Amino acid sequence: MAKLIYFFGNGKAEGKGGMKALLGGKGAVLAEMTHAGIEVPPGFTITTEVCIAFYKNRRKAPPGLDTEMRKHLKKLEKSVGKRLGDPQDPLLVSVRSGAMVSMPGMMDTILNLGLNDLSVVGLSTKTNNERFSYDCYRRFIMMFADVVMGVDKKEFEKLLEERKSARGIESDLDLNSDDMKWLSNRFQVHYKERVGSPFPQEPLKQLALARDAVFSSWDTPRAVEYRRLNKISDDLGTACSVQAMVFGNLGQNSGTGVGFTRDPGTGEKKFYGEFLLNAQGEDVVAGVRTPEPIAALQKILPKSYAQLKQITTRLEKYYRDMQDFEFTIQEGRLYMLQTRVGKRTGRAAVRSAVDMVREKLISQEEAVARVLPDQIDQLLHPVFDIEKRRDFPIVAKGLNASPGAASGRAVFDPARAVEMTEKGERVVLVRAETSPDDIAGMAAARGVLTATGGMTSHAAVVGRQMGKPSVVGCAEIRVEEENSRFRAGSQVVSEGEYISIDGTTGEVMLGDVPVSDSEIVQVVQGRLSAKSSEIYPYFDKFMKWVDKARTLKVRANADTPKDAHLAAALGAQGIGLCRTEHMFFAPDRLPLMQKMILAETEEERDKALQELLPLQREDFRGLFDALAGKPVTIRTLDPPLHEFLPRKEELMVELERLKSGGGLDDVVAKKKKLLERVEDLHESNPMLGLRGCRLGISLPAITRMQAQAIMEAALDAGRAVPEIMIPLISDVAELRNQKRVVNEVAKEVFTRRKKKVKYMVGTMIEIPRAALTAGDIAEEAEFFSFGTNDLTQTTFGISRDDSGKFLPLYVSEKILSNDPFVAIDRIGVGRLLRLAVAEGRNTRPGMKIGICGEHGGEPSSVEFCHNSGLDYVSCSPYRLPIARLAAAQAAIAESLANGKKKKKAKSKTASRKKGRRKK
Ligand code: ADP
Ligand code: MG
Ligand code: MG
Repeated sequence: MAKLIYFFGNGKAEGKGGMKALLGGKGAVLAEMTHAGIEVPPGFTITTEVCIAFYKNRRKAPPGLDTEMRKHLKKLEKSVGKRLGDPQDPLLVSVRSGAMVSMPGMMDTILNLGLNDLSVVGLSTKTNNERFSYDCYRRFIMMFADVVMGVDKKEFEKLLEERKSARGIESDLDLNSDDMKWLSNRFQVHYKERVGSPFPQEPLKQLALARDAVFSSWDTPRAVEYRRLNKISDDLGTACSVQAMVFGNLGQNSGTGVGFTRDPGTGEKKFYGEFLLNAQGEDVVAGVRTPEPIAALQKILPKSYAQLKQITTRLEKYYRDMQDFEFTIQEGRLYMLQTRVGKRTGRAAVRSAVDMVREKLISQEEAVARVLPDQIDQLLHPVFDIEKRRDFPIVAKGLNASPGAASGRAVFDPARAVEMTEKGERVVLVRAETSPDDIAGMAAARGVLTATGGMTSHAAVVGRQMGKPSVVGCAEIRVEEENSRFRAGSQVVSEGEYISIDGTTGEVMLGDVPVSDSEIVQVVQGRLSAKSSEIYPYFDKFMKWVDKARTLKVRANADTPKDAHLAAALGAQGIGLCRTEHMFFAPDRLPLMQKMILAETEEERDKALQELLPLQREDFRGLFDALAGKPVTIRTLDPPLHEFLPRKEELMVELERLKSGGGLDDVVAKKKKLLERVEDLHESNPMLGLRGCRLGISLPAITRMQAQAIMEAALDAGRAVPEIMIPLISDVAELRNQKRVVNEVAKEVFTRRKKKVKYMVGTMIEIPRAALTAGDIAEEAEFFSFGTNDLTQTTFGISRDDSGKFLPLYVSEKILSNDPFVAIDRIGVGRLLRLAVAEGRNTRPGMKIGICGEHGGEPSSVEFCHNSGLDYVSCSPYRLPIARLAAAQAAIAESLANGKKKKKAKSKTASRKKGRRKK
């Protein structure tokens, strides 16, 4: 193995900022800040490679590590001028986890390592502060027991609470040095009881055990769950940094805090954070004491505040992004302990990206590349209905940690949240405070409500990152997790009762408050003025840059004028799929549709179709008008006919009832006939039965009626670009058949109306055979649209409607890396798609090709479509902004990669030239 450990301290560091993969984000940034002359306590980082070797070695330190670590410890001791375990003046260290990708709070860290029964006395004498040194000791014992030995720290916190109530005090700050001493002893006794052996006194042994525990914390269930949720590879491993301690708990001119260079909730450029005086490490995030806003530090320790502001501003400039930092002030001296790119809400992501472009910190392209499609999605999520919410009582108000509206049944246990969500319930998770172990429950819940903790508490940070509406630090409620209820004033809310939380205002309401469209949707639909929305102007600007960067076009799947209008407002450049069958389910149409299906003669059928014709014409006219001259792809009737008829079982029951009730003969006879027809139409495998073009071929009158309605509506609309799409073909002859019908009708309409409109006839590619014979099909098809729902279904031979029974298992067992109905399967389905693109365009150069399956609104699939040379993706209206952004990011990534390739080619030719010259 290469170098195992990298040192940093006294203005020099062996590592660099770019070495995140090896040193973890934290290790790399500690090295980088050290280089930059920022005051960072010295230390060393053991690499992620060592962690991987540790797992290979059955969770034991790989050979050579202990020796190497002792060498670096010597160097650290020299740099600080103290020795680990020195009974007079001990060096204390923290042992910190840190992976390449930040996983806030998911892994473990131990502080104050090196203390034992002797060195704690030395520390007291040296600092002349007994309370402080026993405070450190009791913290160390607790963290060590928790992280290394798996004894829950709550057990120790309980002992602490007991001591406080025995002494009649409320705050940790009121514990005196005798209390701390007492606690250190009591904790050791508890440790021995639970672990079975005494608390280890040998500092080197403490260190080795802590290091191994940090490596092991890569594999805790919560870390694994976090990685699963965030699609982070399990193979990266964590680094482990051993760093000299600095102390925020040395009195009133010491403290510790965390902060952001911008507001992570709104993106506003303002110094944002929280701190606690006379406190250590995790006190701020753990929600034990309620921290103070960072602005207050300006009054208490003005010099440190100014310095902090100056350093973090510099860090933001350097990293060119919003920073999330940790600091400690030891007796007026400021130390930086960490900085990283801050997690933020969708709102903050868009606003800060736009602001940073204006500040000339980043380019427009960087702004576009940096906002995640999911963050844009958050902006389109519904909010509480302004009018209707007034009917619901506000029972409490907390901190508005992560914006958005959430309502659901209150649950008090994360596992219960998961369970109820799986049953299809909406839930809001209510906790006294959340811990990293709650992650699965938080992911399942619609929103999170906590009683304690500040804006940088675990619940707040994770909530923002997940885009989960969260209200934290809601001191007006009392949560009784053990009784599954909370109190707010005189109100008691028990498990299962509906509550609603507004993460934008911090309000907690009783009941299931109805939601309405997001601000963005209201503005684009003209229901809210752009000026009265804070975020819309940022969104609008941002999306302009997005559209400038992308080459892939974006269309919408829309069946009604209402959807089509929304689609156009959200940036649709056309309609990629209008499912005409959706037009037949309306109550005024279904009877006509049934009449058409049940018809016994041609005339009867034609009559029913003639009644449907004007309705269809009106539908299409609405779509053409909404799209104002942009293309509209209309698919001819696709689903099996039985979908329009009542169910067989229901009919049988009804018939029995009629018969026994002595129903009129002709009514009974009618029902009987209906039942016969339903039985006729019964198919054992309807998805592979009489549907798609097979319908139009069997009953050409349907295609004829639809084509007539389309052509007439297009003529009426004036500006219209109809594209008629024939579904489910597997052979070119099927398309030829249907295309002939459409062309005949068009000709007839144009002659009769003495007017023409340009139209196209194309096909869906959704059966593997169609993809495989795309070259032939393109002889007839003027465009292709991949129906990747069916194409995935038929390529895998997996019924989409039944896949829920086994696909989740496939994914958890890693048989498939993804659900192929969510993200397109690039290997199989993707191969068919690329083949069809190539062969289709070989026959018909420049042929227009798009995709209209669910995948059209999923970012990684959009990227694949861009890379495969498609002209457009089509998705549901609400996903349009996501698709636009994903398309822009794919284009940017591609041009970056091309730039790199060019550079490489250039340097290759350059070196070749050089080589030639040498010869
Ligand atoms: P996490 O990844 O959970 O934030 P950290 O390794 O950053 O874990 O440490 C947890 C807490 O302990 C943080 O508040 C950090 O600032 C503090 N801390 C870590 N190392 C030191 C140190 N050497 N001196 C003082 N505080 C420290
Ligand atoms: Mg940290
Ligand atoms: Mg289909």
